[in-house]
Amino acid sequence: MEIFTQSAALKTQAAAWKKAGETIALVPTMGYLHEGHLSLIRLARQNGDRVVVSIFVNPTQFSPTEDLDQYPRDFARDAQLCQQEGVDAIFHPAPEEMYAPDFSCWVQEESLSQTLCGAFRPIHFRGVCTVCLKLFHLSLADVAVFGMKDAQQLLVIQRMVRDLDVPIRILPAPLVREEDGLARSSRNKYLSPEERIRALALSRGLRLAGEAFRQGERDAQRLTGLVRQELEAVQAEKIDYVELMDRSTLRPAKDATGHTLLAVAAYIGKTRLIDNLFLDDATPRP
Ligand code: AMP
Repeated sequence: MEIFTQSAALKTQAAAWKKAGETIALVPTMGYLHEGHLSLIRLARQNGDRVVVSIFVNPTQFSPTEDLDQYPRDFARDAQLCQQEGVDAIFHPAPEEMYAPDFSCWVQEESLSQTLCGAFRPIHFRGVCTVCLKLFHLSLADVAVFGMKDAQQLLVIQRMVRDLDVPIRILPAPLVREEDGLARSSRNKYLSPEERIRALALSRGLRLAGEAFRQGERDAQRLTGLVRQELEAVQAEKIDYVELMDRSTLRPAKDATGHTLLAVAAYIGKTRLIDNLFLDDATPRP
């Protein structure tokens, strides 16, 4: 497995692979890898001859008040996990490698990124789109894998690829949970044992809403109410949103007919957690 810290070296390797007729699958991450990331890597393995994992805590998607400096990092462990998964190359650049001191070009998605997390993290998706486009260019990837844990991010990236004719295929990967339901996340490391238990309110609320949906409940207020109730019961420090959204526009849906996304973001202690569930009329009733 190669470890590249320089963009030019990654590009040279990627070009050599392409010249040999091999396809490249990219998994963009911020590191501190867990089972969710590993499931993406395995999907990448099945969809490309070569797998590149980028490990880069991208400063431009964090606002000054967010957790950029505290974000968990353990590159040695990440590298070991990648090696075990048969990854061909890790790209692990320093911020200065990605952003020139006079960096001044950004990719801004202006519709899907306005709601949900975008409403609370105004520069977040601009940073995500910009760094992902750079990673797509540097890795010459044919395919990039994104997790449904970050459903809005996935949709925003798909929109960027469509609107800007980026020659890459975006492959969604299912959300991976802990056994007790908590969505796996690098940020779970911040949770104290007591907070870890309270954090289960997010997935429990979504599960209850999913069950209600399968029994015929379609009303947005009642479905989101089930999630809110769980968050309030554990005294979540702050609820950023619990929303039912149309899955293609990410605008609020009055009811869960058609393709909808039930999404939640809340603070447990100082940790901001997100989770979501797709609600779909195609889902059979019990
Ligand atoms: P991150 O390192 O948190 O930026 O995540 C990198 C990629 O892994 C993104 O595409 C995430 O959606 C995906 N990911 C993170 N956690 C999970 C999870 N629990 N299940 C599936 N994908 C995930």
